[in-house]
Amino acid sequence: LSTSSAIDEPISPSIQIDHTQLLINGQFVDAASGKTFPTLDPRTGDVIAQVAEGDAEDVNRAVAAARKAFDEGPWPKMTAYERSRIMLRFADLLEKHTEEVAALETWDNGKPYEQAANTEIPKVVRMFRYYAGWADKIHGLTVPADGQHHVQTLHEPYGVTGLIIPWNFPLLLYSWKVGPALACGNTVVLKTAEQTPLSALYVSKLFHEAGLPPGVLNVVSGFGPTAGAALSSHMDVNKLSFTGSTATGKIVLGLAAKSNLKPVTLELGGKSPFIVCKDADVEKAVELAHSALFFNQGQCCCAGSRTFVHESVYDEFVEKAKAQALKRVVGDPFKKGIQQGPQIDNEQFRKILKYIRSGIESGATLESGGEQLGSKGYYIQPTVFSNVQDDMLIAKDEIFGPVQSILKFKDLEEVIQRANATSYGLAAGVFTQNIETANILTRALRVGTVWINCYDIFDAAIPFGGFKMSGQGREKGIYGLSSYMQVKAVVTPLKNP
Ligand code: ADP
Repeated sequence: LSTSSAIDEPISPSIQIDHTQLLINGQFVDAASGKTFPTLDPRTGDVIAQVAEGDAEDVNRAVAAARKAFDEGPWPKMTAYERSRIMLRFADLLEKHTEEVAALETWDNGKPYEQAANTEIPKVVRMFRYYAGWADKIHGLTVPADGQHHVQTLHEPYGVTGLIIPWNFPLLLYSWKVGPALACGNTVVLKTAEQTPLSALYVSKLFHEAGLPPGVLNVVSGFGPTAGAALSSHMDVNKLSFTGSTATGKIVLGLAAKSNLKPVTLELGGKSPFIVCKDADVEKAVELAHSALFFNQGQCCCAGSRTFVHESVYDEFVEKAKAQALKRVVGDPFKKGIQQGPQIDNEQFRKILKYIRSGIESGATLESGGEQLGSKGYYIQPTVFSNVQDDMLIAKDEIFGPVQSILKFKDLEEVIQRANATSYGLAAGVFTQNIETANILTRALRVGTVWINCYDIFDAAIPFGGFKMSGQGREKGIYGLSSYMQVKAVVTPLKNP
């Protein structure tokens, strides 16, 4: 199975599954219930392995371990420098094991192995080094308050953090959360996505080899309504960070509020506009609009999923976007030169095909693709729609698949209004050679990231997060750190009264 231009050369990285149990207090253990669930290969739908299925009781055990490691254990009591050294040693170990880790990620998720090994795992390593660098540079302020008091602030960890991650970038999002949580001195209970439990277990073992004390980082595989909900509503979890769909984000926020009012960072869905102005470099814009949408099988919260193109370059753009999609190399992610693998699972696969049908039925023009590729696994042809109207479902909902929707616009004011007419506000791309146009759009767009003449630049230091229903709080960079520490004001009289 592959498109015509695929190079039929397999890559055979070393691959083995060492861990399928839960990781609690530094030990791999079965679920209290003894239950397991299968994790599947998206290339075929076949079972890769049976994985321990954690639920509320396992979350309790993991939170108790994390509590002890925070209250009594060495973690927050270590010097920040010692914590930083462990994180750096982990980054080195991870780098050494890039091949095995990337292979697990590809097997469980279906993303091209070359993408995992050459881009994602290096970004995970970089993120841990970045936050290791912060660990011993976190400090408060002295505050020039009115009156005769010396006032200072201490930046302290929350305690036990609950981290819930999705399946589209299992290890990358692990690093966005575990990195800053640990750098600030918190302990962690991580709930991985049920579709992709394997890589987090593998690398968390490496973290312990790097010297992480038991109980500091606990990993519970399992399902959302059981394990995820138990973590979100746990009375002894002090901070929650969630990445996933907006619908689930609302549930998680509700559970946090109803239990102990733990603060919550949310990174949710999007329907990001990619705006190509009349003076854009069209070739470049086509290329970047293509990768902004199709990267990671279209399974990105910030996918540029509404491609707005100015009427003066629209026809040329559509022609070239179609040609680009037809050239996209789809196939077994363990082969060389593959740009697109299968979708994550049958549920997403069916959902995407339904959106494609809805696009056709609502009158958008199908320029390319539109169907399953092959007959096995969850491959979908790179699909491009033109003549998309704002009120069509494909222009409104997050499809989370390889479906590009191209919309035409006439002037800036109109495109600003249409780009903002969504409940989401994660990111936007702006393509123009005119600095004034770039400035106008940048300030008018209600989104957490604006990429100008580029897209998907994910440096460790750049903050990321959403306006509106795309989330709350920021991850990565110095802004990401502040999600994992709270401020204590300390007031002392200058003179004893
Ligand atoms: P997606 O549509 O990307 O699968 P979800 O938001 O459903 O997104 O899943 C993201 C993460 O949230 C996963 O780890 C999933 O298990 C978890 N999750 C799903 N439902 C709940 C819930 N009710 N409470 C807590 N976590 C949940």
